[in-house]
Amino acid sequence: MNIEYKELWATILSGNTWNGEFLNKAKDGKLFWEQTLISPIKDECGNTSNFLAVKENITEKKELFEQLTSSKELAEAANIAKSQFLATMSHEIRTPMNGVIGMSGLLLDTDLDEEQRGYAKIVNASGENLLALINDILDFSKIEAGKLDMEAIDFDLRTTLEDTAEMLAIRASQKGIELICHIDPEVPHYLTGDPGRLRQIITNLVGNSVKFTHQGEIVISARVDSEGEEFVVVKFDIKDTGIGIPANRIDALFSPFTQVDGSTTRKYGGTGLGLAICKQLTELMGGKIGIISEEGKGSTFWFTSRFARQSSEVHEVPEVLKRTEISGTKILIVDDNLTNRLLMIALLKHWGCPNETASDAEKGLALLREAALQGNPFRVALLDQEMPGMDGSELGRRIKADPLVESTLMIMVTSLAQRGDVALLQQIGFVGYLPKPVRQDQLHGCIAIALGRANQTSSNVSKGIVTKHTVAEASKRGIRILLAEDNIMNQKVAQSILGKIGYKADVVANGLEAVRALEMINYDVVLMDCQMPEMDGFQATAVIRDSESKVLNHKVPIIAMTANAMKGDREICIEAGMDDYLTKPVKRDELSAVLEKWSTKTTVCLADTIQIK
Ligand code: ADP
Repeated sequence: MNIEYKELWATILSGNTWNGEFLNKAKDGKLFWEQTLISPIKDECGNTSNFLAVKENITEKKELFEQLTSSKELAEAANIAKSQFLATMSHEIRTPMNGVIGMSGLLLDTDLDEEQRGYAKIVNASGENLLALINDILDFSKIEAGKLDMEAIDFDLRTTLEDTAEMLAIRASQKGIELICHIDPEVPHYLTGDPGRLRQIITNLVGNSVKFTHQGEIVISARVDSEGEEFVVVKFDIKDTGIGIPANRIDALFSPFTQVDGSTTRKYGGTGLGLAICKQLTELMGGKIGIISEEGKGSTFWFTSRFARQSSEVHEVPEVLKRTEISGTKILIVDDNLTNRLLMIALLKHWGCPNETASDAEKGLALLREAALQGNPFRVALLDQEMPGMDGSELGRRIKADPLVESTLMIMVTSLAQRGDVALLQQIGFVGYLPKPVRQDQLHGCIAIALGRANQTSSNVSKGIVTKHTVAEASKRGIRILLAEDNIMNQKVAQSILGKIGYKADVVANGLEAVRALEMINYDVVLMDCQMPEMDGFQATAVIRDSESKVLNHKVPIIAMTANAMKGDREICIEAGMDDYLTKPVKRDELSAVLEKWSTKTTVCLADTIQIK
């Protein structure tokens, strides 16, 4: 008796109904499938007296199902083959395309007459367009073939977003559109995920917004959507004041090769692949994508992404930067753009700065005078350059010409940076100058440095204007580095490289001295030679990490510097408790990258300083 029959009898003898499929043989010898239901019928005493059987011939259904399954498998295989073909082709086409773009670029650098230059420019631009299209197809086919792997690397969300916004702001400002980047202060800095793909989605969505917006503004914003102990879901909005999308076209937009209408393509170019790729990427990042739009009024594309929190999120702000406190500083914002004013208000509130806003220069000047007359003047004024009527520079001149308010520290915020601006602004009397979209750390740093300089009476305080470069340099200088190295020659080399990339370090000659220095000073980073007399780098690291030792910060990042460039050395250093690894001779780029990596984790977020009081 085969297994089905055994089961059947066991089921019905225990008083239950059996339901199953049998392969039967008909009288003519043909095999057929039967769906069979057998229920026991009980007599008055509760004993099984008979059976009720219901049968249905399901041979055709079964055959149909098998056919469908095999066609589905065939279709899937064909789809994968297609995607692989596209991926290979796109890849093959990229190589000669780079030749076309590279060579026409070189050609453009040679002596050409007007006509030749015109032709070469067209070849170059067409090459760029074609490459963008091929990149899209390559991405799309990789996603379809399931070949696109997401990275899980540690990154700083603010830096990624602000870098992306800065790059896109150039395109926007060429069209006279304001680009604003608003990251809610609650969004964590340090996350683990794929910053490259995040950048790709934002570039695509903001790129579209720039393309389809002719006046007004584009706002990129980020806020926490939901969070747990180990993860954060961030919601990003890209809002524009462009042509918008008709309601009946919205559903189809995220399908590949879809555009709102054919004439759009002719007018604006594009493949209709961008949004399909964004949708797939957001799904791969554990999120969703959507759009709210009204024709003629603008669109808001939103998407969510899930990131892991960085496991080592001990990003303490060092003493030096704690001193750059700006809370309590009364600040006036003068900007005609409402979104910008709201963004500034949110940041200043977060930093603990009382503030007021004015939507034009006249109102701004009136507010400054009024506050001064009441004996509670504004210390700092953030002025937008491009305003209808009186612009930022003119307002600056008027402030400086008015004895009542001329001591206000003026910072210019502008999206149209031009050569010569700095000299002109300095001449007017501005103390700071920042490009839009404003970066949180730059704004905080600029205000802090300007205040610091103004509060010092000594005559050797720099009178130069504070720019984003000043802020970057200051945050580098604020980093205290300890270099532990016994060889004099190596000390000199390391110090000279550090100097060239804008850092300074204190030097000690062995592990014991390093430990003593760390007991007295809260260094931000330690560069640790491994082989040293008295106490080597490994022993010193063990003492530093030992919570019983007197070292001030047991978690200080330690970067090993060793002459052993053997495989496995890195692991040995990491196992010994060090955080990173450099091989000697130390190279400038590597040192710079490693310091940037470990010092941003502890410092550059000047914006955070106010949280630590
Ligand atoms: P592409 O821009 O390459 O054509 P996309 O998939 O990125 O492809 O966009 C598809 C279509 O969606 C665009 O052609 C356009 O019609 C519409 N669209 C996308 N973003 C916007 C926007 N911000 N405003 C108006 N229309 C948009």
